[in-house]
Amino acid sequence: MSTYIRKSVQKLQAYTPGEQPKVADLVKLNTNENPYPPSPAVARALAEYAVDALRLYPDPMCVILRERIAAISGCAVDQVFVGNGSDEVLRLCTRAFTQNGGAIASFEPSYSLYPVLAAAEEVGFRAIPLADGFAWAEPPADLDATLFFLANPNAPTGVFYPLEAIRAFCQRFKGVVVADEAYVDFSGGRDCLALAKELPNVLSCRTLSKSFSLAGLRLGYAIGSTELIGALYKLKDSYNVDRLAQAIALAALGDLPWMQDNAKKIVATRERVGAQLEKKGFRVIPSAANFLFVKPPEGRSAADLITELRTKKILVRYFAGGRTDKYLRVSIGTAEQMDAFLRAVSG
Ligand code: PMP
Repeated sequence: MSTYIRKSVQKLQAYTPGEQPKVADLVKLNTNENPYPPSPAVARALAEYAVDALRLYPDPMCVILRERIAAISGCAVDQVFVGNGSDEVLRLCTRAFTQNGGAIASFEPSYSLYPVLAAAEEVGFRAIPLADGFAWAEPPADLDATLFFLANPNAPTGVFYPLEAIRAFCQRFKGVVVADEAYVDFSGGRDCLALAKELPNVLSCRTLSKSFSLAGLRLGYAIGSTELIGALYKLKDSYNVDRLAQAIALAALGDLPWMQDNAKKIVATRERVGAQLEKKGFRVIPSAANFLFVKPPEGRSAADLITELRTKKILVRYFAGGRTDKYLRVSIGTAEQMDAFLRAVSG
């Protein structure tokens, strides 16, 4: 093994993002992107952008954008952190909140980036098995961790946990709870924002990648106590959010009805496709996100089905491993894309 590279990095199994195929004619249902375009306000902001401004560094503190997010979220500007995608926010949380040999905990299965972040930071990782049906399981009282990544709705299952259970857990947990709410705009108005504004140890982490149709932009943010937010600001790169991203995010966040209309369409499609898959004998985990986690009928393996779908030019996601490998995660596309998916799984 190379002596140039830190031991933990030599051992690290890097996170594998979903495939971004080079060919255009695929029905791409593998990375939970939004099938609808971003708000027309985004196109306008890009068209009107004064390119000469790119000579200058961006605002390192993203003040104008944070003012918009603070207004939308009903909090103070210094309760808002803005990052280069929510993945950056999660990485900074790992660094900021795992001091003195602290460890990260999360449910299993959940977002597969979390254990990678722990390994990269050389801290322990405690996986708490979810209950049957991937439902909430009460974390043990003696949980030895200083940071809990709580994806809600969860990924890749789409399950939304009871908010009372989350609140009670946050109140008794001694460390920081990051409510990773990447998919919460598809959850019918329920979220952990109030909790993040109320409790000193809770952050709500959001992204423009899914509901705002801006996965290509890389813009995520966190809301919480000024103490936690201040710690993230100490650790970030000076210019972690570029000028264009700040301008485009501002435009997108100025048009919430566009995002909400798209989220409504996606939720309606999700419910229709879920019901149709159930009729075809699939087990469908109830989802509050923009994807479905589904188990093919008896006698059809998920691994075979994903290969079969690929030959029919439909891309979905498969997660190897104990509890997930009998399922496929299918992002919700347009009604037409989902009809193509339903035809493809029918034979
Ligand atoms: N959290 C969860 C649960 C996710 O599934 C994703 C998307 N892979 C992210 C965070 C990261 O989103 P982004 O970095 O695009 O903001």
